[in-house]
Amino acid sequence: TPSLLWLRQDLRLHDQPALIAAAHAGPVIPVYVLDDDAPGDWAIGGAQRWWLHHTLASLGESLEKKHSKLIVRRGDAVEVLTALMEETGADQIHAIRHYEPWWRKAEAALGDRLCPHDGNHLARVEDVKTGSGGQFKVYSSFWKALNQMMPPGDPEPVPRTIPAPAHWPKSETLADWDLLPTKPDWSAGFDDWTPGEAQALKNAKAMAPIVEAYDIDRNMPSIEGTSRLSPHLHFGEVSARTVWHAVDGHGDATTFRKELAWRDFTDGVVLTMPDYGKANGRPKFDALPWRTGKGAEADLKAWQTGKTGYPIVDAGMRQLWATGWMHNRVRMITASFLVKHLLIDWREGERWFWDCLVDADYGNNAVNWQWVAGTGVDSNMFGRIMAPLSQSEKFDAGDYIRQWVPELAKVSGEAIHDPDESGCRPRDYPAKIVGHREGRERALEAGRHAR
Ligand code: FAD
Repeated sequence: TPSLLWLRQDLRLHDQPALIAAAHAGPVIPVYVLDDDAPGDWAIGGAQRWWLHHTLASLGESLEKKHSKLIVRRGDAVEVLTALMEETGADQIHAIRHYEPWWRKAEAALGDRLCPHDGNHLARVEDVKTGSGGQFKVYSSFWKALNQMMPPGDPEPVPRTIPAPAHWPKSETLADWDLLPTKPDWSAGFDDWTPGEAQALKNAKAMAPIVEAYDIDRNMPSIEGTSRLSPHLHFGEVSARTVWHAVDGHGDATTFRKELAWRDFTDGVVLTMPDYGKANGRPKFDALPWRTGKGAEADLKAWQTGKTGYPIVDAGMRQLWATGWMHNRVRMITASFLVKHLLIDWREGERWFWDCLVDADYGNNAVNWQWVAGTGVDSNMFGRIMAPLSQSEKFDAGDYIRQWVPELAKVSGEAIHDPDESGCRPRDYPAKIVGHREGRERALEAGRHAR
């Protein structure tokens, strides 16, 4: 009897425990279901649809090399899988566990037809517990506990061939799904990405020689000091365990591994607080007087399109739009600017990032937004407000700004961080939409409402 291998955000062949278990049990039918209903507001966003198209195509090719196939279908995942079981006579579904609330619901609905496996985290999320047996709400204590469980064991090798069923069920085609943008095609800037397992493994290896410098370089947007593994990790084209081991023996990798461990932490947060993508981690912040109305709408638009008059913010927002990715330091600065300087609800930012990021991830996005906003469990204080202009100077963002904001390409030296103030703002670049001091004071005043 065949079994189904239900693939979601684990689109790889190596270190794929669900695949190994299914192949041991007999013939395997690998299946990906595009379910746009179950996730509700978190249906896959625009940028990730582009990624999904390419990564599924690549996975299909890898499976064919193993004498297998990828069956793709659209619809409610539980219904599609139930129908496929009937159609093929499959008796089980093997899948790696996921922690997004809609996936947990679907897994529960499948009941004992589902044979769940762990494999997308450094350690099983439920196993990293506080002394009293709960999930951690503070990252530093989480890291201590997780690190004691490390290193993760070695993965089992990829099966040499994947046993095929006597009859393959019908598959839809990726082309039917219209995942790629057409009019307008905004994906030109995505050319630097190569979705799929092969590139994911290359990026993991490429991290080894720069892992020691990561401690400092990761904060500098003008240099390529990070792994760019986030979309690959989100789609599970590489396992966290493989990334952990990829930097073995290359000097002190602690800072890098600590960042890698954040994705384990965020899934622990959404395991206990499934609504974290829309509800404040600390309800007292429900009292924050977010700005709404025409003025706020115009400011939101200026932020989204990179026209705030703050070069570092605008560079980040334009990098995001053009490439589907933004440097982490700049994500913090742009997010803080939206929430504090513009006093716009962090959920608006979460939405925009969800649609624009190739690495959009329910747990990572929500936890980071709430961390910056100060509304979450392990967060900055609301009153901690990043100063975009001094951040830009401190982390030497000049070249990054010149790259992403062409109007400022000719502004030289330190003036690049604040062309308004230094009197060299070109006519085609906007003045600041809010003064730094004014924005800061308005935010501090708003924070008092939540005390
Ligand atoms: P590296 O620095 O090379 O880190 C390696 C890996 O560790 C990353 O690929 C990522 O999987 C993980 N990681 C690193 N930092 C974090 C972090 N702070 N939180 C969670 N995981 C981390 N990351 C996402 O993957 N998806 C998101 O939707 C997302 N939204 C964010 C929103 C905001 C407002 C902020 C401030 C950060 C967000 N991040 C998100 C975290 C972080 O910015 C990205 O993971 C990182 O920039 C990806 O680049 P990299 O792969 O080169 O990272």
